[in-house]
Amino acid sequence: MTDHDEVPSADHEFQERIRRAQASAGESGIDALLLSPGSDLRYLTGYQALPLERLTCLVVRAGADPVLVVPNLERPAAEASPAGASGLEIVGWDETDDPYALVAGLVSGAGTVALDNQMWAEKVLRLRDALPGVRQRLAGDVISPLRMRKSPAEITALREAGAAIDRVHANVPNWLKAGRTEREVGADIAEAIRAEGHATVDFVIVGSGPNGASPHHELSDRVILPGDPVVVDIGGTTPAGYCSDCTRMYVVGEPSADFLTSYEVLQRAQAAAVDHVRPGVTCASVDAAARDVIAQGGYGELFIHRTGHGIGLETHEDPYIIQGNDQVLEPGMAFSIEPGIYHPGRHGARIEDIVVCTDDGVEALNRRTHDLVVVPAE
Ligand code: ZN
Ligand code: ZN
Repeated sequence: MTDHDEVPSADHEFQERIRRAQASAGESGIDALLLSPGSDLRYLTGYQALPLERLTCLVVRAGADPVLVVPNLERPAAEASPAGASGLEIVGWDETDDPYALVAGLVSGAGTVALDNQMWAEKVLRLRDALPGVRQRLAGDVISPLRMRKSPAEITALREAGAAIDRVHANVPNWLKAGRTEREVGADIAEAIRAEGHATVDFVIVGSGPNGASPHHELSDRVILPGDPVVVDIGGTTPAGYCSDCTRMYVVGEPSADFLTSYEVLQRAQAAAVDHVRPGVTCASVDAAARDVIAQGGYGELFIHRTGHGIGLETHEDPYIIQGNDQVLEPGMAFSIEPGIYHPGRHGARIEDIVVCTDDGVEALNRRTHDLVVVPAE
């Protein structure tokens, strides 16, 4: 045991992840993974490094122990993180050292290195200069398949994130009122996202009336009116690093008959996609399960995005629930199911749950009602 008590035997889990990444890199013909601060680095070591202009880089080589290269002024933070506690070798560099030459020395003889997908272009190019003739590939090809299959500890972390965002939704009717602006309601929601156990607020969408027809509308100064349907799509990241993301639909007072008709179709579409989830089916078929219901209801043209996205250390990651993705679902994969129907200029609706593919079916991590939540207009 360590003093990092959020995940039991965390050290062992991080060591196992690095071992798998080494094996997978080797099989893919990659001599070393070079990972700058971000979710791949955090996934393999537990270290939430600051993304700075100074180079921090985890070097994972096929036949050797991993090394974490850090600026010396970041060394205390690295040592205090799970990476330090696990005994990972940490090599510091001083302000006037060339960290790119240091990394190049650690991977001398390599023919191919893989860089994390979100590395800054500045670092990519400087590594290219430091390693002339060495082929650069994307580390995501190796790490994303590992991250996609969540461990029991990760599922527990996602379950906690889901419960926390459910508690926020439970209180939305207290804040959502005719006469208030989206921004005012959003401020109350953001405060609650933190209060219910998230470390950060990642996004707050309050799309009232016609604003609901723009899927990524965030907040505006529009005053909420009686009769408005309101899309509330919110998420944050817990201290353990795992994300929540959940959409529920509210209406202030009496909704229009036309809204209710399309909402009924949406509700059936979302349920059909969730029911379809089990090991062995493809991501594309989950998308189709939702899309077919919406198309049969006559709203096919108004469902303008994919059905969902994987979630974990990032809000959007593999697997994507989209037409053409033949990725087969396996136990431990976690993703959103979030079909929507958007009537431009009038209103929009979306229902979103995070679900996990289990050994024999599906577990929904968001448990609030899918029914339209009616809040009084007065
Ligand atoms: Zn969402
Ligand atoms: Zn989402």
